[in-house]
Amino acid sequence: MKTQLEAAREGIITAQISAVAQNEGLAPELVRTRVAAGEIVILSHPQRPQQEAVGIGTGLRTKVNASIGTSSDICDLALEVRKAGIAEEEGADTLMELSAAGDLDAIRRNVLAATRLPVGTVPLYQAFREAALEHRNPGKLDPERLFEIIERQLADGISFMAIHCGINRWTIERLRKQGYRYGGLVSKGGTFMAAWMDSTGKENPLYEQFDRVCCLMKKYDAVLSLGNGIRAGAIHDSHDRAQVAEMVINCELAELGRNMGCQMMVEGPGHVPLDEIAANILLEKRMSGNAPYYVLGPLPLDTGAGYDHISAAIGAAQSARHGADLICYITPAEHLALPDEEDVRQGIRAARLAVRAGDIAKYPDRRDNEKAAAKARRDMRWTDLDKHLLFPKIAQNLRRSRMPECSETCTMCGDFCAMKQGAAVFGQDISGDKACGE
Ligand code: SF4
Repeated sequence: MKTQLEAAREGIITAQISAVAQNEGLAPELVRTRVAAGEIVILSHPQRPQQEAVGIGTGLRTKVNASIGTSSDICDLALEVRKAGIAEEEGADTLMELSAAGDLDAIRRNVLAATRLPVGTVPLYQAFREAALEHRNPGKLDPERLFEIIERQLADGISFMAIHCGINRWTIERLRKQGYRYGGLVSKGGTFMAAWMDSTGKENPLYEQFDRVCCLMKKYDAVLSLGNGIRAGAIHDSHDRAQVAEMVINCELAELGRNMGCQMMVEGPGHVPLDEIAANILLEKRMSGNAPYYVLGPLPLDTGAGYDHISAAIGAAQSARHGADLICYITPAEHLALPDEEDVRQGIRAARLAVRAGDIAKYPDRRDNEKAAAKARRDMRWTDLDKHLLFPKIAQNLRRSRMPECSETCTMCGDFCAMKQGAAVFGQDISGDKACGE
């Protein structure tokens, strides 16, 4: 079986490339050339025909990922399946199943059966959990088990994996030499791998045997997302030497993986102040040869707990605007608790708003929907307005809960409705688009 990358390089427009082109309103040949260059990856799976092909990368709509999964304190398979359903209903583009407790094979398989979204995982979680259960010590993880788990998860239908190949002895040395960090490390997989390297004195097997990782991914045409294992947990640690060292390694690996015919994506932070987001994305794009960039928010401040979905949306809008391709949502429970169903809803909505704001800045020629919404609002065509909103049902319910006396207006201004007054004064001047509006 050829990967999407290998097929595109041979000039083949696959069914998945056609589907992505159609969904995005682009020419199939343009998508093919970008897949061939490694600038677009396509999430699909040969054994999941119900799954829609999702493209991530240059020129495409910025996508939103929702992450779910159990923890040792809250471990409820049914809850995770419901969260997967909510993620799809709320318009997430991809789903990561990140369970760290319970029967991990059963949870993953149930989540896969419950959704049509492409599903991703972090296989290190299961590897270290199985080692902990068996030996009471995750440091006893046998690398062979790690490779076996990667394949087990891929065979179940996983389309992409965050794999921590770039956190190696060299990056750890940078972390030690700079005097650790203000915010510590926040990647679970990365921290466990650092502890494993520390206790065994060995190199990260995912780095040492990178070609083996790529071979497994290629077998299922899965996308390898190079995990941000040394991810900073505070904006003061953003772009420190350890962070940049891992990014250099990951960008190097992105090129090596592509040369092997594997679809590659790079994962970024994390916690980044607003003024550094553009530079962060520029660095990744330049060093990786424009590999699709998957960022986690990022959070541009460290003091928003309880409203971190809004903090992350501010960072995500900036990220999307400057070229990030996939944004992982953050929920209101971030830093505080395992997200519940309502947290998942709120996180996805905030992230969808953020990427829309970023996309209309990234692609100024894609603002027609915003213009149509504005005109419908100006003309008080409430039903037409709903067609252009991101959350029409929420908007309808809110308006209906507080209806005005005059049905044209709303209870915000009532008799002082500026739209109504403006239409009375300037209505006859409306003649299609403004001369300067196009
Ligand atoms: S009442 Fe105020 S908020 Fe409502 S439509 Fe009129 S101008 Fe807009």
